[in-house]
Amino acid sequence: MKLRADLHTHSISSGHAYSTIAEMALAARKRGLKILALTDHAPDMPGGPHEYYFFNLRALPEYLHGVRILKGAEVNIISANGKLDLPVEMLASLDVVVASSHAVTTPETLGKKKNTEMYLKVVANPHIDILGHIENPLFELDYPTVIKAAKAHNKLVEINNASFTIARHGSFNNCLEIMRILKAENMPVVINSDAHVASRVGEISRALEVALEQGIKKENILNFNAQKTAEWFQVKL
Ligand SMILES: [Zn+2]
Ligand SMILES: [Zn+2]
Repeated sequence: MKLRADLHTHSISSGHAYSTIAEMALAARKRGLKILALTDHAPDMPGGPHEYYFFNLRALPEYLHGVRILKGAEVNIISANGKLDLPVEMLASLDVVVASSHAVTTPETLGKKKNTEMYLKVVANPHIDILGHIENPLFELDYPTVIKAAKAHNKLVEINNASFTIARHGSFNNCLEIMRILKAENMPVVINSDAHVASRVGEISRALEVALEQGIKKENILNFNAQKTAEWFQVKL
């Protein structure tokens, strides 16, 4: 069993990523992926594309280099009430929506209690699919509360390989706690690359190694199975 779908990746359109979608799709094919979600940063990220970019993703074919392309976005959580930086109609038109906090777009000084309340609002948003890199220590969270709420709303909590490869102090221990809760709650796990360059598409080796050490079973990793992933996101393969 191996990774079949990468559900969090960035193309050159994000403004601080470096490959075209054709290069990314080819890299995905070489890695043996069946599904590639393009989740470029939403407009509030400096250098991010205009919202029309997401509207016009319908111009893309379903397959590039034989890889099923899912049209997505990584939206920014931009206020304490869980507001996101794409309009509802746009979110509804996308296959995959990852919601994340970033230092440049998300209030940084709310503290653990308010951050947790903010995430409870995000999790309840019917248009989001995945909570992105919640291990980021910049945004302290009550993980059991947020992850159990994600479970109740059928949302995925990703394990982000980039959190292991860029030195973000505290991410590692947060990842371990997140993995423990996902396992205890018997939730599906998704491990994503968060690639910002084609050569890293489908590269999840460090996160996978840690997940397996923590007792997460490969059969519980949703994106190891292309068919199950397609069913989860209600897309045809
Ligand atoms: Zn992000
Ligand atoms: Zn990202």
